[in-house]
Amino acid sequence: MNNLLDMFDVAQQWLFETVVQPGLFHFGLSNYTEDAYQGTMWLLIGLLQVLFLLVVFGALQKWRPVEPIVDRQQIHVDILYTLIHRLRLFQVALFFLVQPFWDAIAGWAHVYGLSAFNLDQLWPGVTDQAWVSLIIYLLIFDAVDYFYHRAQHRYAWFWALHAVHHSQRQMTMWSDNRNHLLDSALRDSVMVFVSLVIGVQPGQFVLIVIFTQLIESFSHANIRLHFGRWGDRLLVSPRYHRKHHSIEYNESTAGAAKGHNFAVLFPVWDLIFGTASFDSAYSPTGIHDQLPDAGSHDYGRGFLAQQWLGLRRMFQRP
Ligand SMILES: [Zn+2]
Ligand SMILES: [Zn+2]
Repeated sequence: MNNLLDMFDVAQQWLFETVVQPGLFHFGLSNYTEDAYQGTMWLLIGLLQVLFLLVVFGALQKWRPVEPIVDRQQIHVDILYTLIHRLRLFQVALFFLVQPFWDAIAGWAHVYGLSAFNLDQLWPGVTDQAWVSLIIYLLIFDAVDYFYHRAQHRYAWFWALHAVHHSQRQMTMWSDNRNHLLDSALRDSVMVFVSLVIGVQPGQFVLIVIFTQLIESFSHANIRLHFGRWGDRLLVSPRYHRKHHSIEYNESTAGAAKGHNFAVLFPVWDLIFGTASFDSAYSPTGIHDQLPDAGSHDYGRGFLAQQWLGLRRMFQRP
């Protein structure tokens, strides 16, 4: 394990010195060396994740696909979304815009004594053990994600953005990051706020992000796979999340929750709040009104069209 971490450090150093630092000098941004070094860590994590997806999840998709690939162009769009998000290109672009806002949140949290609170000190001897606190933090972030996701489906303006994610009819391991950028910025801000409030250690935050993102990519993958009767109640599987993306689901005639299987990592939230469905079908994905007999609604085929139409839906609601 330590060897692996050492190798990672060496690679981070190399990437920083050969690519990032010359870039900073070139653009006159040498003031940001410290942030950029941190950013290089995320860039490297992103590159390793993409490699892992290609090798491991890619092989599984070939082994047991749910459906054949008939629209390769839509997969290319999702690969673009994945690179933008996982290599943090989007965060870098937002850095100068959002960082002052995050700093303000951190300052505010500090003023109100929130950042002084460390959840892992709740029960000394138990909650301060690394693996215990890691599980607690994972559960808290996942609960926040669950309610964030419920809100995305519940409020019309929020659904206008989240529909970008659901409009994919060719769902694969690349589809997790297919999101409206405004939505991504909002979710990042919520997560930064939560991590400040509960006092997550930076090292643990990195592990939580990596684990969450890998499970998210896996749950979107085009793989005919579930974890069995009990496994599917413990961890979100590809079949479980596919149910959430089912095109058969009709928003306009649906119940109050407006969907099933909102959980990101742990289905326990769906079980507690009555939104779980363990239906064994692998149905086609998409949004109901994309079907020809429901209006063939257009959510855009290209990245820019999808982003633009998302904004338009958000502002044009009655
Ligand atoms: Zn959703
Ligand atoms: Zn999804």
